Amino acid sequence: MISAEPLPLSIAGQWRLGAGDAYDSLYPATGEPIARLRAASLDDVDEAITRAHQAFRDSGWAQRLPHERAAVLYRVAQLIREQAEPLAQKQRLDNGKPISETRALVASAAGTFQFFAAALETLQDTLTPARGPYVTMSVHEPMGVVAAITPWNSPIASEAQKLAPALAAGNAVVLKPAEITPLMALELARICEQAGVPPGLVSVLAGKGAVIGDAITRHPLVKRVSFTGGTATGRHIARIAADKMMPVSLELGGKSPTMVLEDADLDHAVNGVLFGIFSSSGESCIAGSRLFVARPIYGEFLSRLSEGANALRVGDPASERTQMGPLISASHRQNVERYVALGVSEGARIRTGGARPRGPEFDRGYFYTPTILEGLDNRARTSQEEIFGPVLVALPFDDERDLIEQANDSVYALAAGVWSRDFKRAWRIGRAVQAGTVWINTYKQFSISTPFGGWRDSGLGREKGREGIFQYMEQKSLYWGTNEQPLPWAT
Ligand code: NDP
Repeated sequence: MISAEPLPLSIAGQWRLGAGDAYDSLYPATGEPIARLRAASLDDVDEAITRAHQAFRDSGWAQRLPHERAAVLYRVAQLIREQAEPLAQKQRLDNGKPISETRALVASAAGTFQFFAAALETLQDTLTPARGPYVTMSVHEPMGVVAAITPWNSPIASEAQKLAPALAAGNAVVLKPAEITPLMALELARICEQAGVPPGLVSVLAGKGAVIGDAITRHPLVKRVSFTGGTATGRHIARIAADKMMPVSLELGGKSPTMVLEDADLDHAVNGVLFGIFSSSGESCIAGSRLFVARPIYGEFLSRLSEGANALRVGDPASERTQMGPLISASHRQNVERYVALGVSEGARIRTGGARPRGPEFDRGYFYTPTILEGLDNRARTSQEEIFGPVLVALPFDDERDLIEQANDSVYALAAGVWSRDFKRAWRIGRAVQAGTVWINTYKQFSISTPFGGWRDSGLGREKGREGIFQYMEQKSLYWGTNEQPLPWAT
């Protein structure tokens, strides 16, 4: 247990208990409580947003020069790095990812603050070509209070990905982490405070999305929502946003195709496919969960893949050697199990996995073995719906046209992977597949400098990249008259 006492939230510039219900955050590897919290109440939501609005108006944060705000964000990056190990351990306890992965998430969060500090310092507005006796400029202004709503799968990284550009843009931020993984958002708020972000500018409101997230989205002082989570929730938020005429960005689900051509480097492809689906226990929006393999190599490839999946080290997230930890919760594991059963009822053969691992070290946690299903059609529900767990659906394909048609036959279009030594084919397929991100001869690589987002049901808008800051700003055109004479109006 991190603390027997309930943890305070960061509400309206104060550290205090939420006025909502008490609940525990559980360690997914053992089911034991690791922290006790009191959720925010609807009054807390209103108070935090009202105070954030005041802080935006009065603290001078938005008026600081870009390099001055950047200096604070650089300090945030530095403080995250100084506390990297305790943060990584806490993140492991909060969501059960292996320690090697939570260390990478913490490093990514520090890198995100550093990147947006640098982007802010070097961001340029535009002088547009004048078409009259005036100078024309396109500039950007902060929006006010913006909200960030995040899921449980990579908390510190996805929270930094929203908090850093929103603060860089000069806004106040209300952050709503997933109810079951609130600890990193609270750490980020504490670090922002230590780094010199003005009081009240950042609040963290833990609690149920359907209550707290909904109230935040509807609040009239919230001028933008940046959301990462499931497609159904994204649609709900978009409907509220439509009524408020409020911009939103939605990073949603996926069922990403990975395509292995007959000329692929099979060692690389086997490793890449395993990493693409089974790292993070498959609880990843970009998991390569639909595998298409050229028919002539299908048999050999599946044999090697199954061997690799069976050899993955599933177990204690605290061990440096562990590759796959538990799933996030008992109920999520049940969802994954239901999908495997559905797959079987749709005609799937379980090539490997398809069960809970056995042994005392697995008894209390929410573990599930890496699973490969074969024999399904691409139109089967199991091939089409996001499982968000360590379950791969493998299908053969016959030719390039057949491949592209099947790969694009999905409501999702978040990411895709191509494995081929033929650079012209890889290029053709990389351009023809519909997805926000395509990896060629690699998979699940992430760079904060490269825009990220989905097409279709996988989302709206892009995060990351220098332009990521503009998503949290309004654009304004300025005309500055240089006329020597009055406007030719009433002469
Ligand atoms: P959810 O959509 O259930 O939850 C995401 C966040 O939204 C949580 O903080 C949740 O709170 C909150 N929320 C729930 N209901 C509402 C509501 N009515 N109004 C406002 N906020 C609400 O997704 P999961 O947590 O189950 O996360 C998994 C999903 O996230 C997957 O579909 C995955 O693909 C997607 N995802 C997408 C990524 C991307 O970048 N494209 C990255 C990571 C995940 P609470 O915790 O209380 O439910």
